[in-house]
Amino acid sequence: MIRTLCCYLCLCLLATVGSGDTYPRQPGVDALNYVFRLTLNDDTDEIIGEASIDLRFTKDNPADFTLDLASVNDGKGMTVSEVKSAGAALRFTHHADLLRISLGSPAKAGEQREFVVRYRGVPARGLRILKNKFGARCFFSENWPNNARQWLPMIDHPYDKATSEFIVTAPVKYQVVANGLLQEETDLGDGRRLTHWKQSVPIASWLNALGVAEFAVHHAGLVKGVELQTWVYHQERAIGPAWFETRSRQALEFFSEHIGPYSYEKLANVEAAGFGGGTEHASAIFYGEKSILERPDAGLIAHEIAHQWFGNSVTEKDWDDVWLSEGFATYFTLLFTEHYEGRDAFVAGLKRSREQVFTLEKENPGVAVLHDNLADMKLVLNRIIYQKGGWTLHMLRGLMGTENFWAGIRDYYQRFCNGSATTDDFRRVMQEHSGLELSWFFQQWLARAGSPVVEGGWRYDAVTRRIVVELAQTQPGEAYRLPLEIGITADGATRVEKIELSQKRQRFELTADKEPLMVALDPNTWALMQVRFDKR
Ligand SMILES: [Zn+2]
Repeated sequence: MIRTLCCYLCLCLLATVGSGDTYPRQPGVDALNYVFRLTLNDDTDEIIGEASIDLRFTKDNPADFTLDLASVNDGKGMTVSEVKSAGAALRFTHHADLLRISLGSPAKAGEQREFVVRYRGVPARGLRILKNKFGARCFFSENWPNNARQWLPMIDHPYDKATSEFIVTAPVKYQVVANGLLQEETDLGDGRRLTHWKQSVPIASWLNALGVAEFAVHHAGLVKGVELQTWVYHQERAIGPAWFETRSRQALEFFSEHIGPYSYEKLANVEAAGFGGGTEHASAIFYGEKSILERPDAGLIAHEIAHQWFGNSVTEKDWDDVWLSEGFATYFTLLFTEHYEGRDAFVAGLKRSREQVFTLEKENPGVAVLHDNLADMKLVLNRIIYQKGGWTLHMLRGLMGTENFWAGIRDYYQRFCNGSATTDDFRRVMQEHSGLELSWFFQQWLARAGSPVVEGGWRYDAVTRRIVVELAQTQPGEAYRLPLEIGITADGATRVEKIELSQKRQRFELTADKEPLMVALDPNTWALMQVRFDKR
């Protein structure tokens, strides 16, 4: 997810997300599959819906269960006309965005039932019905982070992943894109077309996507066995595919080869109205019409495609751990740069990101990467999660070594693919692959707000033939534990020594036959710290 009007790294539109909702879990019920039958038209913004929901009960004898679904407020929201199961009508209440359904007969733990909900209404959010930049009417979902409930009856929480289908009837001028594989397109003979998409891999609620517009659709063939498609407004059919497909091909190849197989049945890059940046819906990424097709932007495409592995396939179990999605997409975009553009471009990106961390931390004192039992959905994302989350992965790679890091990443992906994970799950996998105890590292970089500030210098003692390095950590609070490299340049060559700075003031002595030309702290850009270091 990247939101912007001008630059994909700013999150200007975050204020538009939900309204301070909490997101209680339902321990007694597990959603397995949703089928959404929707009718859209051009005369009104009202949608007519029928949702078939397969649930499994996970405890005995629940009296009822709830689905998230917006109730009517100020003329917008959904009105439910009927709830049925096995052909029998069920009693229900619908208040405060919760549809509570009474069970007609007791359910046993492990039992699976299908429920059908008939409803209609004008969505306040979640499905946006608007005009695109060419003035043409279109429909685009925007479910992040908890707006699926605005138009779809669901368990609207990232922990409950399910498969889904969209069966959409809309005026025949529109093409319809959604998650998964196209099952059917039929002109109904009355000016409307029925389009059926089926997503057979379980995904989190916000990753369900629907786009309805007058699209030009380009099929680019298979990349690593995955069908690559481009959906842009028909006015841009000549420029859209070229803009998307080169970078998408590279991203699919790089991430498939380095992390593991892509999880989904296709990858559609979709131009969408009303926002900048991108949203990573599983297998159907939306890119804001305002920020695409004008300039090369490998970073945006790589970021959203990286999410298909991290965020979509391996999903954070809770919003508290959202860095497992955004921090990963940020660092894997830098790894994409390292692979295709080389180390200098990678290091330049790391340095830009590091400066952003320091600026963001100044603007947001006390904000750590991990949320602490977050209840306000407006606060799910902040840019610290992206940039410091990404840097945490980079430092972990520095600590473990590049080979162990990639082995751990592949194993983490394989173990939690199409499921959910916590930060502790990730830590345990990386511990196994490094042989290191990493609790201190995760605590220091993810749970603690702020970054280290290191000041000091070096001098050469010709008598003892030693370089004396004196360092102080001047940030408030306790000392960080900082494994650091020192680069010593003499006679046209640089050798690297490793030290660990773990106290507020510390002195190190390194042997050297003669006075070096230069001594540098962190010459290979592995440490997230502000540094003042010079010759004394
Ligand atoms: Zn993102």
